Amino acid sequence: MTIAENLQHIKTSLPETVTLVAVSKTKPISDLTQAYEAGQRVFGENKIQEMADKWEQMPKDIQWHMIGHVQTNKVKYMAPFVSLIHGVDSLKLLQEINKQATKYNRVIDCLLQLHIAEEETKFGLDEKELNELITAPEFAAMQNIQILGVMGMATFTDNQEQIKKEFKHLKSIFDHLKSKNPANSNLTTISMGMSGDYQLAIDCGSTMVRIGSSIFGGR
Ligand SMILES: *Cc1c(COP(=O)(O)O)cnc(C)c1O
Repeated sequence: MTIAENLQHIKTSLPETVTLVAVSKTKPISDLTQAYEAGQRVFGENKIQEMADKWEQMPKDIQWHMIGHVQTNKVKYMAPFVSLIHGVDSLKLLQEINKQATKYNRVIDCLLQLHIAEEETKFGLDEKELNELITAPEFAAMQNIQILGVMGMATFTDNQEQIKKEFKHLKSIFDHLKSKNPANSNLTTISMGMSGDYQLAIDCGSTMVRIGSSIFGGR
């Protein structure tokens, strides 16, 4: 199947309310161009330098999402153009995003990454840290960031019940967050689900899926 066919196939299976982020990390410009020509406008990358290189080479109506872990000292390279940063997991990082966004006179949209998996290795906030972040005075003072919602990754397992439990947990964290009506936020987005588990994620309330290998093939 071609990239265009894969995209078509996935799109027909998604509810209209769910945004598809085409995860193009490690893939060449020629692959991204095929997806672009098939109508895809939202791309996800996990390395800032690679995303900046691709942004320079690709048409300018693409929305670039940073889905990987973000190092504070690299925020400046994506601040001029990034559309949504999925992996925000500290006040310090958010402050740097705010600072760089201010330089470009922009408001940068962000998702707060929650740790929902069992594995120790995955990044993200727990619920206590989330609460501390959104209630910090420094958080309310920022004027160039906006929180659109949450992002999470389930445990890497075949156990569907476990994945479902983790996705439902993220949805409940989102609902709770929304009920608190935090500053600097417009809570619309739950980014969860990848090639192997996006159907399940949608059943659990996902509004944004990040799909790579099912579109572009293995890496
Ligand atoms: C690579 C990646 C994806 C896409 O994974 P696939 O299994 O190829 O769909 C989604 N989210 C994050 C954070 C990733 O790093």
